[in-house]
Amino acid sequence: MKKIVVLSGAGVSAESGLKTFRDNDGLWNNYRIEEVATPEAWEDDMELVLDFYNQRRKQLYEVEPNPAHFALARLEEKFDVDVITQNVDDLHERAGSKKVLHLHGELKKVRSTRDPKLVYVLDGWELKNGDTCELGSQLRPHIVWFGEMVPNMLPASEIASLAEIFIVVGTSLQVYPAAGLLRYVRPEAEKYLIDPNAHDFSYIPNLKFIRDKAGVAVPILVDNLMKTLDK
Ligand code: NAD
Repeated sequence: MKKIVVLSGAGVSAESGLKTFRDNDGLWNNYRIEEVATPEAWEDDMELVLDFYNQRRKQLYEVEPNPAHFALARLEEKFDVDVITQNVDDLHERAGSKKVLHLHGELKKVRSTRDPKLVYVLDGWELKNGDTCELGSQLRPHIVWFGEMVPNMLPASEIASLAEIFIVVGTSLQVYPAAGLLRYVRPEAEKYLIDPNAHDFSYIPNLKFIRDKAGVAVPILVDNLMKTLDK
């Protein structure tokens, strides 16, 4: 089976009702990164950080995957598909994608502040001050904050290097190291970038721009890729 690797960002979930980070009405217009998404923020004001992620988690229970998530899952009928996502939501999984690698963590999971290997699925949406791991230490969101290592970058770069088709959808490609994943993709691989506001990455070989919303453009691209196998 031909190998397709998808790199997704906040834009793929925008039509499900989850805000992106950098668009005009994005999340960062209401919060400052330093206040809610850094290790220093956690030290300074744990309650604010907990509240920020509790609100995100609560909202995640109220939204559904959109046609872009479902179309990407459908690709698995005919291709070997890996999804690498910068998103912390679980909409790819809920749409049916089997192999999803989260670069920046997962909202529905929490982990020990003493032993990062102790990761749990949170029961419900609210993580509270005083909720502890089995060692008795405070639990924190299972999120990669700005300034922290991205442990899944190594497997992600290995997966990207195997792609025969690489689809980038809904990411401004402004956040490193995730944005650098394109460099691991072989020059001869077919590449697609789906984003209504795609920046100019024309120096990347074999890259086709699709400047449209994910919910419209991804199902069309998926149909076309499936048809190429019928010929
Ligand atoms: P970003 O906000 O930097 O970029 C989003 C991109 O999506 C923009 O280029 C925008 O033009 C595009 N976009 C907006 N609506 C779209 C649509 N309907 N279809 C296709 N594209 C659309 O987001 P990013 O590049 O993912 O930034 C990375 C950071 O944002 C990550 O750390 C990620 O964890 C975090 N984030 C995640 C979520 C989520 O899990 N749903 C939501 C917001 C932010």
